[in-house]
Amino acid sequence: MHQYDAVVIGAGNAGLTAATALQRGGSKTLLLEKHNIPGGCATSFVRGEFEFEVALHQLSGLGTAEKPFIMRKVFDTLGVLDKVEFIQEHSLYRLAVPGQVDITLPASWSGLKRTLVELFPAESDAIGRFLKLCETICLESFMTLPQARRSGSEATLKSMCPHYVEYGFQSAKAVIDSFFSDHTLKTVISAYWCYLGVPPSQIPFPDLAVMIYAYAAFKPWHIKGGSQAMSNALVESFLEAGGEVRFNCGAEKILTENGAVCGVTLESGETVRCKAVVSNASPLHTFNEMLDSEQPPLAIQQDMKSRRMGTSAVVIYMGLDCTPQELGVTTASSFIYETMDDEAIYRSMNSLEAPMGGMFTCYNFEDPDCAPAGKSQVVLVCLQYGDVWKDVAAEDYAATKYAFAERLIDMVAKVYPKLREHIEEVEVATPLTMMRYLNTPSGAIYGFRQSTEDSALLRERLKGVPGLYMAGSWTGMGGFQPTYMAGESTARAVLKHLKKAGEVQHV
Ligand SMILES: Cc1cc2nc3c(=O)[nH]c(=O)nc-3n(C[C@H](O)[C@H](O)[C@H](O)COP(=O)(O)OP(=O)(O)OC[C@H]3O[C@@H](n4cnc5c(N)ncnc54)[C@H](O)[C@@H]3O)c2cc1C
Repeated sequence: MHQYDAVVIGAGNAGLTAATALQRGGSKTLLLEKHNIPGGCATSFVRGEFEFEVALHQLSGLGTAEKPFIMRKVFDTLGVLDKVEFIQEHSLYRLAVPGQVDITLPASWSGLKRTLVELFPAESDAIGRFLKLCETICLESFMTLPQARRSGSEATLKSMCPHYVEYGFQSAKAVIDSFFSDHTLKTVISAYWCYLGVPPSQIPFPDLAVMIYAYAAFKPWHIKGGSQAMSNALVESFLEAGGEVRFNCGAEKILTENGAVCGVTLESGETVRCKAVVSNASPLHTFNEMLDSEQPPLAIQQDMKSRRMGTSAVVIYMGLDCTPQELGVTTASSFIYETMDDEAIYRSMNSLEAPMGGMFTCYNFEDPDCAPAGKSQVVLVCLQYGDVWKDVAAEDYAATKYAFAERLIDMVAKVYPKLREHIEEVEVATPLTMMRYLNTPSGAIYGFRQSTEDSALLRERLKGVPGLYMAGSWTGMGGFQPTYMAGESTARAVLKHLKKAGEVQHV
């Protein structure tokens, strides 16, 4: 007799949506989380008068109430659409390269085209064709790709997603170069690569196309109360449906019987029995450390050998004693570069030398409640690969971290010169902080690296142990929308499995 139908390990976005969908689908579910709060990356923390958003800079895929997109349906299915309030950003981003470029793009599909054509009239035809391609690829990606991939047939994939297949292995740079000749236009249109830490020469074009269309057509969003509010709402919905959650409670071992999942041992030593496990932890931790077999199944070993570690980040959380207007802020989100050379920015993500590119978000620019009256919540992010931080000796860590933070502030202060003089609270996180709080290898925040050699077309569900499912940034694209969706779709697969085994009656 099983105590639980399913155990979900980790309460990051995908763990939370998986657990909630499982419990609401009739599966008796236990959710385990190492940390004392839910959310993984999707959390907040308090310093002084400020509650800082840890991770969410722009939520994609929501759409407006009048023109909803896929995430509204997902949140509705999970019972959380009415539990949270969303705040719309009205600009896509400002790209500032001091002395060279300062352009702000609107968060509107028609407005984006209009702005780009006004700025780059010589490329107007190409801009129209390029944006149409982004739209087509994004819609194929959300509407037909999942079903086409499930069919397992190459012919079906090609007929249902012809553009995704044609461009799936091409780099964003190759495609952008084939459309445009103006270097500034190329830099402006591809700025979203900075969210993923993989330069246009390596990122699969569909990954960039999806971001451009999903953010511009369906708007970038924040969540009132931060992403923590959504994490809390998901836990609430899970508990209302009868689920059980344990915080400060890591999973230690995933147990198998005759090769199939049968239970989980907790860090406390207690063992719970279950028919299925969903792991929101990394596959390396799941298969190499938690699974009770001596070695991961061969297919999993081969899969993991083909992956490369994704990016982590250095983040500076700042409470300022001035308003966004006093600071000169004109958009919630800015990308700030030292150079127009993407490859140089990418190289700097692999070193502790001066950062060459980063993101700046002012949360109370769109939502005044994000900071006390007259003050501002500002977050600077510089993506960094975790390996460069692993070699820093423990005794040098604090000095290295603060020296890097100073250089990042110097770079951003070239665009927002009053930044330094207004700092009231400050906290700095590095890839080692991410490693500690998320339990991810190298502190990765988007799972494995999304490159053309590791296109979404090559990523399969990691199967190999009956009853063990993976959900999170490691099995698809990283980011909020993809991980919320991954948890929900994984839960559907688990419910099917449980129903087949006769474990769940009301699916
Ligand atoms: C600074 C920063 C900025 C970002 N900006 C954006 C953005 O603007 N837009 C966007 O879309 N994405 C952004 N992201 C990325 C996004 O936040 C992540 O890709 C996504 O939240 C990862 O979700 P996940 O489901 O994979 O789980 P994670 O957030 O990785 O959480 C995994 C959870 O599992 C728990 N866990 C691990 N091992 C165990 C165990 N053995 N037992 C129990 N629990 C365990 C961990 O404690 C953690 O809570 C950002 C991330 C960061 C850090």
